[in-house]
Amino acid sequence: MTKRDYYEVLGVSKSASADEIKKAYRKLAIQYHPDKNPDNPEAEEKFKEAAEAYEVLSNPDKKARYDQFGHQGLGGNGGFGGGGMNMDDIFSQFGDIFGGGGFGSFFGGGGGRRTKKGTNLRVKLKLNLQEIANGVEKKIKVKRHVVAPGVSFKSCSTCQGTGQIKKVVNTMLGQMVSASTCAVCGGSGQIVDKKPAEADSRGLIIKEEVITINIPGGVGDGMQLSMSGKGNEIPGGIPGDLLIVIEEAEETTFQREGNNVIYDLYISFIQAALGDSVEVPTIDGKVKIKIDAGTQSGKMLRLKGKGIKDINGYTRGDQLIMVNVWTPTQLSREERAALENLKNSENFKPDPGRQEKSFFDKMKEFF
Ligand code: ZN
Repeated sequence: MTKRDYYEVLGVSKSASADEIKKAYRKLAIQYHPDKNPDNPEAEEKFKEAAEAYEVLSNPDKKARYDQFGHQGLGGNGGFGGGGMNMDDIFSQFGDIFGGGGFGSFFGGGGGRRTKKGTNLRVKLKLNLQEIANGVEKKIKVKRHVVAPGVSFKSCSTCQGTGQIKKVVNTMLGQMVSASTCAVCGGSGQIVDKKPAEADSRGLIIKEEVITINIPGGVGDGMQLSMSGKGNEIPGGIPGDLLIVIEEAEETTFQREGNNVIYDLYISFIQAALGDSVEVPTIDGKVKIKIDAGTQSGKMLRLKGKGIKDINGYTRGDQLIMVNVWTPTQLSREERAALENLKNSENFKPDPGRQEKSFFDKMKEFF
């Protein structure tokens, strides 16, 4: 079936204002509303067609693309992810058209009932840098509301299972049905029939569950991961989500800088002058590194790939080692004498001109 032109669908000209487009749609929505045309597939088709046209023409960005490229500009099927608009999409758009309580509740029923969703659970999860660097599998205990075993439900007699209480009201647009959520069943249309003693009035019990979560490498403090359907259950609806908020544990060995980790290495000036081989910790365990003879304080060394995994890819950051030359704060008589001997030695006189780069130039080079 070829799609009709959206302007033609709404019966407006291409130069119609946003207000004219809205008015034209409102008229069609009332004319073809399913509640006014029960069991009329043609009206339903027209209702959907109008909703889709309005969805595009009321959105300046989509309208511009449509004006320039036609239906093609919206990705084939009008840009609604394949199947056109469903009734929920259409009803959710009515708040905008009719303001306030929205059109869905204005007419009530008619496919406007939404799926109810249980509440989300939120847990904090503290991770150390090693876990963050490589990703980790964690088991956490959560207390969820779940539908108790043995609970059965029956249709709510107050709302006849519709979840809504309807009232006929007189309005400018004629006699309309207004609907409000049924207070007895909370809008689910179902009430508990039989339940075990430990379940609450909604048929729910609190259950402690151990949930395994795979945390990807590279997460950061405050980041939120979501496991859909692992939140609280709700009778007649879909469960909420489990939200996991990442906390970085206090870290003393390393400093995190994006995907790199920085480690402060302290060596004596003797090691700096003579060179040495020293052990440094990394996220993956200890490694030996070589300190060249004549190393200056502030020198940065890089251990490639010893940092944190990138959350979006397969690369890993580096470990940067900042070399600090430690000056002794106490000296014995012998030590003092030995150093006094070297005090006027030519090679011990600072000569920073010979250093290739300043500390700040090195920092720039590393980040
Ligand atoms: Zn009810």
